[in-house]
Amino acid sequence: MLVTPFLHEVRAARWAEPGLTWGLVPTMGALHEGHLSLVRRARAENDRVGVSIFVNPIQFNRPEDLASYPRQVERDCELLAAEGVDVVWTPSEAEMYPPGYQTYVTVEEITRPLEGAARPGHFRGVTTVVAKLFNVFQPTRAYFGQKDAQQAAVIRQMVRDLAFNLEVVVCPIVREPDGLAMSSRNLLLKADERRAATVLYRALKAAEAAWQGGQRDAEALRATMRAVLAGEPLARVDYVSAADPVTLTELDGAATHVLLSMAVFIGQVRLIDNLVLGGEGSP
Ligand code: AMP
Repeated sequence: MLVTPFLHEVRAARWAEPGLTWGLVPTMGALHEGHLSLVRRARAENDRVGVSIFVNPIQFNRPEDLASYPRQVERDCELLAAEGVDVVWTPSEAEMYPPGYQTYVTVEEITRPLEGAARPGHFRGVTTVVAKLFNVFQPTRAYFGQKDAQQAAVIRQMVRDLAFNLEVVVCPIVREPDGLAMSSRNLLLKADERRAATVLYRALKAAEAAWQGGQRDAEALRATMRAVLAGEPLARVDYVSAADPVTLTELDGAATHVLLSMAVFIGQVRLIDNLVLGGEGSP
């Protein structure tokens, strides 16, 4: 496995055998089973697998979030070697954004609600770095998690709009046994916060139960989630949403397909989770 901070070495590895298919898994490191599920899917579907590990400063809108973000690159590389990954790119900030850097990619409407509204500038940072990763690796397929549902939709939009020559593959959310969606930020939770963090999944499951009982009203689904979240003293709601799974606009009245999603602070740690009801609809 090649581990390198250098763009030119990744590019050389990519083009050493031009006829092969490549799968790319972009990450910010502190890898867990969620990331590894993407890596395994990429390993199964491609001749070569590349992983990037880069805590992308321009997608963080809170300096304290960037400063506290967990970093464990050596351990990450051991995990990736065990999965049979071929190339790991670990660029420095200067390698990714050299002095004089001034080009950014902006996707419009679909970045405005939800995470885009709560985290100004976040998706501009994501699309910029992912576009650059696509140019460096030129993968056949790129793998993202449904955990970041809006991010996956934004990347799909960018790939379509800018005609990137690759397939976007979105993989299901991997959860802890108690339902908490795996996240690098879970490492930052204290013991009581870790217990409280299950409230996101409990809120989603309560809305799902209401849906299965015939509830279709979007506001009622939001109210069900809010009521569960209100029962957890350590939780502070950032947003709760019942949105169209394709456009991500907030729904009113009866829904046929719905993306339930939320962002909730547990102590200082901001967690997100989501669940799709009624099938995803076709983008
Ligand atoms: P991150 O390192 O948080 O930027 O995540 C890298 C990729 O892994 C993104 O495409 C995430 O959506 C995906 N991912 C993170 N957590 C999970 C999870 N629990 N299940 C599935 N995919 C995940």
